Formats: sequence, C-alpha cells, structure tokens
Amino acid sequence: MVQGNHLTNVRDGILKSIPPEARVTKIEFEGPEIAVYVKNPSVLLSGGDVVRMVAKSLRKRIVLRPDPEVRKDKEEAKKIVYELVPPEAGITNIYFDDVMGEMFVEAKKPGIVIGKNGMLLKQLLVHTLWRPIPVRTPPLKSKFIESVSALLHKNSNYRFKMLREVGKRIHRPLLYKIDNLRLVALGGFKEVGRSALLLEVGEDKILLDCGVKPSSKDYTSEFPSFWIDDFDIDSLTAVVITHAHLDHCGALPLLFKFGYRGPVYCSEPTKMLMALILKDYLDVADKEGRTPIYSLRDVKTALLHTISLNHGEVTDIAPGVKLTLHNAGHILGSSMVHLHIGEGLHNIVYTGDFKYGRTRLLEPASYVFPRLETLIMESTYGAPGDVMPSREDCEAKLIDIINRTLERGGKVLIPVLAVGRAQEIMLVLANAVEKKLIPSVPIYIEGMIQESTAIHTAYPESLAREVRDKIFYEDVNPFLAENFVTLTKGHARLDIVEGEPCIILATSGMLNAGPALEYFKLMAEDERNSLIFVAYQVEGTLGRAIQEGAREVVVEYVNGRPVTVKVKMEIHTCEGFSGHSDRRQLLRFVERVTPKPHRIILCHGESEKTSSLALSIHRYFKLPVETPEHLEVVKIR
Ligand SMILES: [Zn+2]
Repeated sequence: MVQGNHLTNVRDGILKSIPPEARVTKIEFEGPEIAVYVKNPSVLLSGGDVVRMVAKSLRKRIVLRPDPEVRKDKEEAKKIVYELVPPEAGITNIYFDDVMGEMFVEAKKPGIVIGKNGMLLKQLLVHTLWRPIPVRTPPLKSKFIESVSALLHKNSNYRFKMLREVGKRIHRPLLYKIDNLRLVALGGFKEVGRSALLLEVGEDKILLDCGVKPSSKDYTSEFPSFWIDDFDIDSLTAVVITHAHLDHCGALPLLFKFGYRGPVYCSEPTKMLMALILKDYLDVADKEGRTPIYSLRDVKTALLHTISLNHGEVTDIAPGVKLTLHNAGHILGSSMVHLHIGEGLHNIVYTGDFKYGRTRLLEPASYVFPRLETLIMESTYGAPGDVMPSREDCEAKLIDIINRTLERGGKVLIPVLAVGRAQEIMLVLANAVEKKLIPSVPIYIEGMIQESTAIHTAYPESLAREVRDKIFYEDVNPFLAENFVTLTKGHARLDIVEGEPCIILATSGMLNAGPALEYFKLMAEDERNSLIFVAYQVEGTLGRAIQEGAREVVVEYVNGRPVTVKVKMEIHTCEGFSGHSDRRQLLRFVERVTPKPHRIILCHGESEKTSSLALSIHRYFKLPVETPEHLEVVKIR
C-alpha cells in the first residue's frame, strides 16, 4: 500500500506549519485545492506569507478562508472595501457568495484592487474577513457573461458539495503505485474532428478533449467512440478541455447526459467561450429543425462541474497526477496540457490545436516545459504544401483588396468564425484604420461575433502583449474602436448594402448559414463588391464552391425549389490568418520544444497530412513518431 497525501497527512502538515494564533477551525478539500478556515487570518498575512510557504512545502494549492463566524456584516464589508481601494480602481459592483465566503469586487481596473504583490487583496481579507475575488468589469456589456455568472452563483451550494467530492477523490491514498500508462484514441486520430483521447494512469482515467465532428453523416462518426469497453463513464476521473472549438468540446455535455459528474478542467476564458459555442450549437440545430443529442440542461450541468485554472498553475487532478495548462496561441484561452505523472515517472504534453507563431490576438504557443517524455501533437497542416504566406504579406493583401473595392464604390464582405478569426480580423482592421492604411469607413459586425468579442475584452491578460499593453497602459481598447458598429437582429441589411462604402464582418465563416449568407445574397450580383475568405472552407460548403469558381449558386430553397444567385462580386482568399501552425511552424516547434521529448504521437490531421509530418519529423529530428489509428491503444509506459 502506498501512502498518499490524504487528508490526515495534509492536515497534520498544515497544522504543524501554521502558528496556533491563527486559530484554524477546519481544513477541507475543495476540488484540487485545500481550504484552510481560520478565525484570525491577520497572523498569516502580516510579515512573510505563511500560507504560500506551507503550500510550497506540501506542494499543494491552499486557499485561506476566514471562518464563517468571524465574517463582517456585508454592508460593513462593502464600506471597508470602498475605504481601502483607491477610487481609480473604478469599482462597479460588490457581491457575496455566502456558501464559499467569497466577496467579488468587480472593478474596471482589478489590478488596483489586487495591489502590489497582492498586498491590497490581503488587507481586504484581513479587514472584511471575506475572501476577496477581484473581477474585471467587462468593457463590453454582455448578457451572456452575466447569465453564465448568475448560473454559477445560483448553484454555489451544489458546486461546493461537488468540489468536496472531487477533492476527496484527488487526494485519496493510492492502492497501487502507478506503473502503467496507456492512451486510447477515441477520436481525432488520422482525422480532424471529435478530438478525444483517453489516458489510463494506474487506477485513474483522464479524458483529454471531448469534441464532435460537425460535418459527419451519423452519430457513430460524429462523436468519440464512447461505447467501447475501454471507456467506462463511472471510472472517469477527470476531463481536460484544451479550447472552445466544437471539435474539442462539443461532446462534453453528452458525458453529463450519460451521468458523468466529475470535474472538467480548462482555462477561465475557455469556460466562457465553451458556454457560448455549445449554446449556439443547440440554437443552430433548433433552427435547422434537428433534435440535438443533448439539451441545454446538460450544457449547464457541464458548466457547473467546470474548474477553471490559470496557465502555469500546477494542480493535482488525481493521486500522482499533476496538471498544468500552458498557452497554445490558437484561440482565446486555448491551452496545451502538461501532465506530470507518478512523482516523476512520466511527463506528457498534449498540444491541442496550437499556433507557434505570432498573431495580433495572442502570444505564440509555449514551448518550454519543466519535463517532457511524450509529446502528443496536432498535425492539421502537416503536408509539404501546407505553408502559409507570412503575416505581413497576408495583411498587405487584405488591405489592398479592401482599398481597391472601396475606391470603386464597392463594399467588402468578410465571412468569419465568431470565435478567434473574427477578433483577429478586427485587430487587423483597427490597426489599418489607425495607421490610415485604409479609409475610415464603418465596419459592421453581425452574428455571434459581438458576444465572443465581449468575452475577449473581459480577459485582456490572455491576449497578445501589444493588445494588453494598449488596454492596460494606454487605456485604448482596439475592440472598441469607433469604426466598429454592432448590428442587432432586425436591422435593415438592405440599407447597409445600399448605403455608404463599408466593410461587413459576419458569421458563419463558410457561408452555410447566418447573416454572412444573407449579405452574400444581397451583394453577390454587384461586380463592385468583394468577398474575402479568411478561413478554411470545408468541402461541401457554399463557401468552398464559390472559392473554387462557381458563378451561379443555390443559396436557399423556397417551397422545395432552389433559389440561385449569380456571383458577380470579386472573390478573394487571404490565407495565413489561421490559428493553426503551418507545416514550417509545426516542424520549428518540434525543433525548439524543451526538453526534447523521447517520442512523438501525432493526432488531429487528415491521414496523409499526419503521415507526411511523421516522416519529416523522423527524418529531421531522429525521433520515434507514431500515428495511431482510430481506437488504437498505445502503451506509453
Ligand atoms: Zn481549434
């Protein structure tokens, strides 16, 4: 029997290191964290940070919670906050969570609420005896963010109980030493879509990503292969989601429909974006008259079980398994997954989708890890032809097309994905207007883009340094540039199409539905206009047909009869805005990743692309590379 870090050991360790004057009343597991309740927190926070030192020596995440008995009256606590926090912080709201004993201080500049080295936050805790949580007031008001926060808030009791259960499981003693490690390819191997890989680590099973393949014809290829013997929902310990794209998280609510009630780990922005796209997935199904396999209730249950982690934060997710998320540079909140297994037995990095290159929106993916033996990486653009033009050339081309179109009195339509590409293009356009590279015309935004942008503005610390600096130090938010005009449902699209020169950004990215399709119908027959594709057009979509030269296309069916439109507008494609690494970036990542892995496993790519990349990696870097088939089991140790 192996001694784990179970509660008595941990409790003894904490009690030994904490001065008795702090008056500890309770020590409890709370998900991956350990909550220490004290009556007199000031002892721990004056002078050196005792809690941080204890956490470091026990290698556990510890949160300090004032005992419920000593908490100040809420009105009094609010008064203290207003007294201690300088007015420049711009506090917009203070609210409380009675179950968790937390006080949320919503401010325009949460950095000021935190104070230098977290000093002000400590003072707030000592004086109010609530645990203060600084929250950024979203610069763009979003009903969506509000309703997700309200859902979590309302179910605080449920979450509290869930976290205690999860905590017990994480910190339980292990019956056997971890000595086996297997990967089961449930989806997203030699294909793009339904990413799901199951890791069996001793007694625990951890699912990395849980996606759908939206273009599939039937359920068996739309969802990961959950029906095989190796997959048993009751033995699933944890789910980790790398990012909020449907092919990585679209099947998550299905697990909850099947009865999973364990934790889902991801970054905070991923949690919000995931809520947005899962809800949209259901709305679209509804509009198209399809019955989705899960309901909004399952989406909500999934959200209630989501535990968000910051990048770089080391967290226990099972006995002997430590998870750390690192920036993946793909979309807001996207993460690479680092797993440290069995006290140094093995280290895995699963990249998810990643961009090892600069974009306007995000910093490039991380490539330095504390330890690494097995690298599981995506291979979407793994073929020799998958080399994209440089960002500079790509932006120059976009700007040139826009200028020529506007000069001849035309308008520009750019179909975009609501999450990621839309914001990248917004930043490119905001910069072009600011530098006077294009005329200052209205840039209309329609579709889910606005909600998604609001989520981006709520997490500026996750954006590229240049954008962050603009927001923090220059007080300029490029997403709020005055040229951007958000359109709501019900406005007259015809007025826009027949009005002054303008640029229109609308969903969906492949013209198969949404406002982009409506604009296309109105704009297609005017040769002065331009349509610019900035995202990959999947086979079988209207976008792909137009991109490949179709000049008369069916745009809808009325009473079963096709309605066609003549395509007279100019059609352009600007490659290079992708959130994925191209082939050169994939190879450069393998070259630079530190430390050098012992083996590489490739996923997330069409069969030929995966094989082609495998060959090159093997040739250039002399590393063993595997390309598992769907449902293949790979023994890692
Ligand atoms: Zn993705």
